[in-house]
Amino acid sequence: MTALRDIGEFGIIDRLAKLASTSPNVVEGIGDDCAVVRVGNEMLAVTCDMLIQDVHFRVHRERLQEIGWKAAAASLSDVASMGASPLFALVSCAAPSDFEMEALEEIFRGLNACLGEYGAVLAGGDTTCCESHLVLDLMLAGRVEDRYARRSGARPGDAIAVTGYPGRSAAGLQAQEQGIDAPALIEAHTRPIPRVAEGRWLLPRVHAMIDVSDGVVQDAGHIAEASNLLVDIDALAVPIAPELADFCHAHGADPNALALAGGEDYELAVALPPNDAEAICADFEKEFGLPLTVIGACADGPAEVRVNGEKPDSGGFDHFRAL
Ligand code: ADP
Ligand code: MG
Repeated sequence: MTALRDIGEFGIIDRLAKLASTSPNVVEGIGDDCAVVRVGNEMLAVTCDMLIQDVHFRVHRERLQEIGWKAAAASLSDVASMGASPLFALVSCAAPSDFEMEALEEIFRGLNACLGEYGAVLAGGDTTCCESHLVLDLMLAGRVEDRYARRSGARPGDAIAVTGYPGRSAAGLQAQEQGIDAPALIEAHTRPIPRVAEGRWLLPRVHAMIDVSDGVVQDAGHIAEASNLLVDIDALAVPIAPELADFCHAHGADPNALALAGGEDYELAVALPPNDAEAICADFEKEFGLPLTVIGACADGPAEVRVNGEKPDSGGFDHFRAL
């Protein structure tokens, strides 16, 4: 018998993937940020993400609308990482019978606001009763126009780059838990911004793309595995937001550790053709007022991620190993 914690989240997914059949209509199956399915002459990128009370959010602490916002942002980010355009969502919701209706409405207000901000609408779902703990599962479909980005397209020599400033969400969580006044970081955690327009802009320019939901190192590791090459991250190249530097300075935290391993930033990590990388980063910043920073490179070698040439201790978050 194998306990789930022995093989971890990705071991579990690998075992379950072996049980799935293939279909010519499934263009991209298990393993990328979204499944891509053919519907007539069109393609849809489809993803789902589940949030559980007291694991992913706390009803008494977070503002209710932000719980819904975050549920939508997590799936929007996966659609963004394919370079697809969000279309519609279905939401399954399980709640204990004494949960307040008005609180659930607030959560759904935030959810609808986030979907609307990025061009998607709530089109259905399922509602059921459970014993304890609110559970939200959001399925999101997006339109793929002609092509989509995968985790698996990186080539030896490519530069690895990341949008924005990773690590802010993880610092925001720490600030929130410790009652520290750090509004920008807390907002990065409770109201993350999925990089939808950025993903569409990057699509024709990148060899591979993933969203950073579990930490830069772990998600760069997914590019390495899917593309079957070595990704080496330069720890000091990951950009540190000024507010993250201030927070870490004041509270004795390590900004680089947070930027490398902190999850739930929903930035995008991409593999760029090396000769164009500098120009793409400059154009990106001009277009979005947000940095796109080269933080590493791809090379022939074992399909794994390294940080400054060394294997990292623990790359990021695994639900089954964390609990
Ligand atoms: P992300 O962090 O981008 O949301 P995940 O790590 O959750 O991606 O999932 C990785 C891949 O595994 C995705 O292609 C996802 O659809 C697939 N996957 C996860 N759980 C299951 C499951 N229970 N059954 C089938 N596929 C799954
Ligand atoms: Mg993802």
